This record gives sequence, C-alpha cells and structure tokens, in this order.
Amino acid sequence: MARANAAYYANHDPFADFTTSPEITQVFGEVLGLWAAVTWEAMGRPDPVLLVECGPGRGTLMADALRAVAQAAPGFRTALRVHLVETSPRLRAAQAAVLPEEVAWHDDLASVPSGPMLLLANEFLDALPIRQFVRRDGAWMERFVSDRSFVEAPVKDGTFLLPLPPGEGWGEGVLTAERGATGAPGTQPLFSYARTDPPPHPNPLPEGEGAVCELCEPARNIAANVATRVTRNGGAALFLDYGPEQSAPGDSLQALQDGKPANPLTAPGEADLTAHVDFAALARAASGARVHGPVAQGLFLARLGLFQRSGRLARTQPPAKAASLMQAAQRLAEPDRMGRLFKALCIAHPDLPVPAGFEP
Ligand code: SAH
Repeated sequence: MARANAAYYANHDPFADFTTSPEITQVFGEVLGLWAAVTWEAMGRPDPVLLVECGPGRGTLMADALRAVAQAAPGFRTALRVHLVETSPRLRAAQAAVLPEEVAWHDDLASVPSGPMLLLANEFLDALPIRQFVRRDGAWMERFVSDRSFVEAPVKDGTFLLPLPPGEGWGEGVLTAERGATGAPGTQPLFSYARTDPPPHPNPLPEGEGAVCELCEPARNIAANVATRVTRNGGAALFLDYGPEQSAPGDSLQALQDGKPANPLTAPGEADLTAHVDFAALARAASGARVHGPVAQGLFLARLGLFQRSGRLARTQPPAKAASLMQAAQRLAEPDRMGRLFKALCIAHPDLPVPAGFEP
C-alpha cells in the first residue's frame, strides 16, 4: 500500500478520482484557518508559530485558510510560518502555484522544526499504509500483496496483534520466534510475546474464521510524534478523516478510481488506496497530550460556523453560485453524507482550553 500510494500520488491528479472537503467548498479551509487563529489566541499568541499541514493535496485548504486569516486575524497571519508535509513532487508544485508565499516542504514530520505549532491534516491519515491480519484455522496470518493478488503468510518476527487475557481485549506486541525448549533440531519454534505500547485496544479480538484486523503504524507514530511536540512546545493538531469512533475489526481497504470503487489489486499505483482511520488508536498513541474528540465532522463544522459563513458568502454571489455554496455545506455536514463518517480529532497541549468545536 505504501509503494502503490507513493506511485499514485507522484503520477496522478488524485482529484480526478476522488473529491475532498476543501475541493467541495472554499468555506472548509476558511473555517479551519479561523479555528487555528482562535487556538493561537488561546495558546497566548506565540510569534513565530508553525502552521503545519500534512498531505495538502492541491494546496486549496491552506490557500483558503491563509486568505481568511489575513482578513480576520492579521496578528496570526504575520506570526505564522507555513510548513507542508508532502511527498509527491507533482502535488508540491500544485501547492506552490496556489500559495501566496514561500513555504517549506518536508517528507515527514521529523524535519519540521520544533516550536509552538498548529497542525492541520484533512484526509491524510487514510492514505497511510495499513497492515492486515486475517484469522485462519484459529491463528493469525498477515495479508500481503504479491503479483497482484493477496497472499497470507504466518506471522514471523515483528509487531503483531497480541490477544490479552480474557476481558482485556487486544494489544500490539512483538512476536519473536524462539527455539523449542529442548533446542533440538526439528522442533517447532515457540513464539513469545512482549507487550509494547500503545495501551491495548479495549475490545476482544475477533475469533471467527476469516476475521480481519488492521493496524496503521505510520498513523499511530504521527499521533505519538505530534503529542510529544505539542506537549513540549505548545500547540494543537487537528485531524479530519473518515473512520469509526471505536477500534473495530474488519477489512476497510478501498481503492477509488475515476470516482468509483475499484479492485485494489488490478492496477497498483493507478487507483487511490485508503483505509478507515482508527481514531481510538490515535487517541491511545497520543500519550502525554490531551485528546479532544473525535467529534462528527458535521457537528464540528457547524460549530465553527460553516453554515453562517457559507450563507454570508452566498448573499454576495449570483443565484446559481449561492445555491451551490449552500449545497456544498450540506454535503460536508449532513449525517448520511460526509457529516457522520468523517470525524475531527484534536491532539493538544494538556493546559490548552477545549479547542473550538470540541465543547462537550
Ligand atoms: N488534504 C488534501 C489532500 C488529501 S489526499 C485534501 O483534503 O484535499 C492525501 C495527501 O497526502 C496528498 O497530498 C498526498 O500526496 C499526501 N500523502 C500521501 N501519503 C503521504 C506520506 N506518506 N507522506 C506525506 N504525504 C503523503
């Protein structure tokens, strides 16, 4: 999945295959920019402050956010320094073309300088590679892709699902092959588990034949890294993505090509591959920081004034454009469209007041 998506984002215009919230309405990026400005006030207006975006796509969200902030929060606009985490050279060029100033690009968060930070990421985590484990004959196999088909292999050394004693759910552990107790040639290796962070998933591992569990280690590492940064230097990170509130077993890998579901195996690098984001796993990984949400995207955006702002903008537009602005707001917020499956999660400094949109 990592290689297929790297090839995909490097060579394609992903927005021919799927549409994201910032491409649906300019108001999405505007309200997220204002969210960052309000959070910056709550942080005590640090100057300079890093405004980081992960996976900025065409740069639309950041361009809309900067425009709104320049109008409504000039102090924040002057203090902020834009840093973009983006691996695709093609998309970096698209971002440079729409942004009003020189920005710094990074392949990952590691090279983003330390300092007070506000981070935005929309539909970024769902593009990161997952690992899938499948239950076969009472044991767990890991599912790989080889020659354009799925293959399953017994789990060897490495991070693996770790069933805990009954009632304690499951965690992630390190599975190590050991020689049999006698060490005699021909004896089956025994496996020992060492329990590791993060804390365990609260639900039991599914036991049925063919049950699937997924892990997304890169997403978890980003949550942990962001938690360390905001706890040490101040700030908050806002992730918007789609997935369930609680860790849930199941196969969520999806390929999208030309706006339609596709077979993830037939053309690696030609379709966008995504998987559900496990918000509960992110929250568990963000130790040290305070986690707010997840809150359904519809509720979150409504609290940030999506409809009021769309309405104000619509009043200045011709009727067709005005109607499409209001329809776009509904598409992002209605529960049976993007309002419920999509969620917002914030990882913040423990002393920061509850950020806008996350009120209980
Ligand atoms: N946030 C944008 C784009 C979402 S598509 C929007 O809402 O429209 C996913 C984005 O993440 C693309 O910009 C893609 O190039 C980037 N991306 C995917 N995998 C990445 C990785 N491992 N590291 C950095 N960026 C990545």
